[in-house]
Amino acid sequence: MTSDDPHTADLRSRVAGLMAQAERDLAQLVSFKSVADPRQFPAEECERAAQWVADAFAAAGLTKVGLHETPDGSKAVIASRPAPPGAPTVLLYCHYDVQPPLDEAAWRTPVWELTEKDGRWYGRGAADCKGNIVMHLTALRAIGSELPVGVTLVAEGSEEQGTGGLEKFVVANPELLRADAIVIGDCGNFAVGVPTFTETLRGNVNVVVTVETLAGPLHSGMFGGAAPDALATLIHMLATLRDAEGNTTVAGLDNQQSWDGVQYDPDRFRMDAGVLGGVDLSGSGTVAEMLWARPTLTVLGIDAPRVVGSSAAIQPAARARLNLRIPPGIVPEEAHRALVAHLEANTPLHAKLTIELESMGAPFRSASGGPARAAMDAALTASYGRPTTTQGQGGSIPLCNVFADTYPDAEIMLIGVEEPKCLIHAPNESVDPSEIEHMALTEALFLTTYTH
Ligand SMILES: [Zn+2]
Repeated sequence: MTSDDPHTADLRSRVAGLMAQAERDLAQLVSFKSVADPRQFPAEECERAAQWVADAFAAAGLTKVGLHETPDGSKAVIASRPAPPGAPTVLLYCHYDVQPPLDEAAWRTPVWELTEKDGRWYGRGAADCKGNIVMHLTALRAIGSELPVGVTLVAEGSEEQGTGGLEKFVVANPELLRADAIVIGDCGNFAVGVPTFTETLRGNVNVVVTVETLAGPLHSGMFGGAAPDALATLIHMLATLRDAEGNTTVAGLDNQQSWDGVQYDPDRFRMDAGVLGGVDLSGSGTVAEMLWARPTLTVLGIDAPRVVGSSAAIQPAARARLNLRIPPGIVPEEAHRALVAHLEANTPLHAKLTIELESMGAPFRSASGGPARAAMDAALTASYGRPTTTQGQGGSIPLCNVFADTYPDAEIMLIGVEEPKCLIHAPNESVDPSEIEHMALTEALFLTTYTH
């Protein structure tokens, strides 16, 4: 890094000087067993984490600090500092709750004790999302009292539970979190050192399909051949949802979209996904296209007789649970209609078909082309010394859609310290401290250069 301008050089050295404190803070945060499920961990663990976050951001210069109870009972930490006249307001998002340890025996370091190993820091929540809390905190500390924009910090307390406490709270209290730019600090770069916006999130449609053909099971020797077989009928229907290459083929849903951001190397993907040697990847597009730009139908479960204990019987009914992931550009209602129409059109033998909708979530695309995005792009580029790229994320973050609906003019950006090596949600979660340092610098640069 030879080309820092004086402002970048100054912030870079301030952030570097704050990294020892960042490590101590992360160690403190990781020590809270803040799994937001009182059946697994005492509620005080979350309360202590929330209080620590509130105190830390107060010490970093935010005022109006409070814990706000949300409809699912969890507490959101909200702290803010008003914008100077004419300046924009930035909302910084993170969450202080974490996933449970899962298989504790699989951890190579203590779950709740930040431990350095081969240059990475291990512990539950070290990346997701306590590493991002420390990113926000370090950025604000580096700037100090000369914060030229308004900042509101929100740290959610039940993100990993999916109970939607903050989502409902935002709808009920829109003024508290209103901002011109929203930084969702719960994502990360494509790889360590590669500055990346997570630009899209897939939506989903879940349905349960039931096929019925007979009043009851029949002997396959006596009736098989002429009796309509519900399981065979279901298998036939499901097979029409994919072609032999693995492309999803729901009639009416575009499966040819391309991806113009980062490309995911197929060999790396094979390793990341644990694909067996000699087995082909699925789909005719690139890995990035298949993951982020095209619809994907997955059969999540089938109710059918188990092999052990099955008998020579034709099944009178069969059902399956289907999950359709949809990229931005496809509306969930439209995807649901297409899926239902496809299944109806591909039901053999006029079998009795029932399709129940279980859940639907909209895909998300972050804004690009606005002033906040331009400032963040420049900040990432300056921090890392290389141009930014974009990736998608296969899962969904429902809160992003709530923010987009509630604050239609806000620019929403997804960044953070959670790159793939972090193994978030798995045993042996870790964070690369250089990502905390680069991302904290990025955020400090953004907060000191963004104007509307
Ligand atoms: Zn997270």
